[in-house]
Amino acid sequence: MQLHFQILKFDSISFKLGIKTYIFPLIKTNIMNTNYPEVKNYIAGEFIKNGHNTLDVICPSDGTVISTVPLSNKKDLDEAVKSAAEAFQKWSVIPIKERVQVFYKYKTLLEKNLMELAELTHIENGKTLDEARAEIEKSIELTEFACSLPQLVGGELLEVSAGVECRIEHKPLGVVASIAPFNFPHMVPHWTIPNAIALGNCMILKPSEQVPISSNRIAKMLKEAGLPDGVFNVVNGDKEIVEAICDHHGIAAVSFVGSTKVAKIVYKRSTSNLKRCIALGGAKNHLIVLPDAHPDMTANNVAASMSGCAGQRCMASSAMVGVGEIDDIVKKIIEESKKIIPGKNLGSVITKESKERIERYITEAEKLGAKVLVDGRNTVVEGKEGGFYVGPTVIDYVTPDMAIAKEEVFGPVLAIIRANDIEEAIKIENNSEYGNAASVFTQSGSAAKYVMDHASAGMIGVNIGVPVPREPFSFGGWNESKFGVCDITGKSSIEFWTLLKKTTTKWNPEAKKNWMS
Ligand code: NAD
Repeated sequence: MQLHFQILKFDSISFKLGIKTYIFPLIKTNIMNTNYPEVKNYIAGEFIKNGHNTLDVICPSDGTVISTVPLSNKKDLDEAVKSAAEAFQKWSVIPIKERVQVFYKYKTLLEKNLMELAELTHIENGKTLDEARAEIEKSIELTEFACSLPQLVGGELLEVSAGVECRIEHKPLGVVASIAPFNFPHMVPHWTIPNAIALGNCMILKPSEQVPISSNRIAKMLKEAGLPDGVFNVVNGDKEIVEAICDHHGIAAVSFVGSTKVAKIVYKRSTSNLKRCIALGGAKNHLIVLPDAHPDMTANNVAASMSGCAGQRCMASSAMVGVGEIDDIVKKIIEESKKIIPGKNLGSVITKESKERIERYITEAEKLGAKVLVDGRNTVVEGKEGGFYVGPTVIDYVTPDMAIAKEEVFGPVLAIIRANDIEEAIKIENNSEYGNAASVFTQSGSAAKYVMDHASAGMIGVNIGVPVPREPFSFGGWNESKFGVCDITGKSSIEFWTLLKKTTTKWNPEAKKNWMS
């Protein structure tokens, strides 16, 4: 058997043995082998051991069991809803300027505990420590936005007729639920917790059963920040508890973030039970690269967008549409991809099944004639042989009909599709059933504007690989990437989390001028 050695920028070494690529990071940047206490439900300000069946929580970077999570049932949800409904009586009538004081304090706790929270996210999700740190920093930004809500939710008041005034106020909905995915255990809960609660609602969070530990830590910090018991609750579990949330008559609104398949189920079930629902789904984001694009900046952005968080981001670029002569840029993308080292600056994917699914997409595309330029299959990281790693992968000459071009792969894989002109590129992007993000790389203003105008996606980037709008701008896709009106963050979320109360008053009948006054 032949051995192939390669030194990767002096911070790691790899060798190929048979079909497997072994990677030895020479610099340790990860923290591993930590055990956490069992995850519990958090109801009425108490962590509750409920004695139900549990699932193991697995650290994806090395495959070890790090905790357990309970599978709650409808009775647990009833208790959480009862606690939240009771808390709502007091919380909803506290003026918003007072309610946000909790989040000023909470923000300082996030800052104080930044590295500990990042380590936890890194361990339970498998992303790198740097990525986990950025995730907590984003949670801080989301909390800052909630602190600014008093400046944004001021109602409207107008004298509409002599002596007659109309006013509009934002009122909270009541008990609301937030259901989260595995890929951002800390940030996605913060898309909803600070805004919904600052606006006067009481919340039940259902974290992903694959990464439930961060939610217990969030509950603890909210209590420390002074949030009254019952305003925030955590109910753990899987499908059964999600369905119970959609059906529960005590819950007024449901926000969901996860795959399109489940987003559709949650949206249909919640709205058929007459709830307000926003359900964010999966994605297939296209990066359109034109021949005049800045080569270094483009290659750097494309590689980072494809591989960040091991490609497990709903904003990851997994399809690049190269227009015309772009071979030099592809060469640079290959160079950039080779700097991405599993176990060092590339985390693991979430499960063994995910790794196998991602590798199947690559193999199938290869069989259909696509050219694998960088191959991340069969990656094993030394010291973490039980981890679920896929190396960075670049595949050229993918055709739009291949599964890898159409479906969400959710791994560090870039499928390059070739197009003759920008119109053909836009057609490929528009044919996607998803619509989270689309980006264009070019130095031409008119070409950029063409893509801005014609791409069928909620979030557009120009020379940006991950066009996530920062607060106060809102986050949300189109098409099968989002069901329901409003976006989940930013100013748009105010409409989702509140009811409008319209009041008309008349105090001076002597001012009568017309039919209304
Ligand atoms: P998922 O849909 O499998 O799970 C999300 C939540 O739904 C979890 O809490 C899970 O317990 C629950 N769930 C799973 N199967 C269910 C079922 N059959 N019935 C009811 N509930 C069920 O998603 P995931 O694998 O945790 O996360 C990855 C997905 O999330 C990707 O598709 C990604 O694109 C998407 N995502 C989208 C956004 C966005 O903003 N659009 C953001 C993050 C993640």
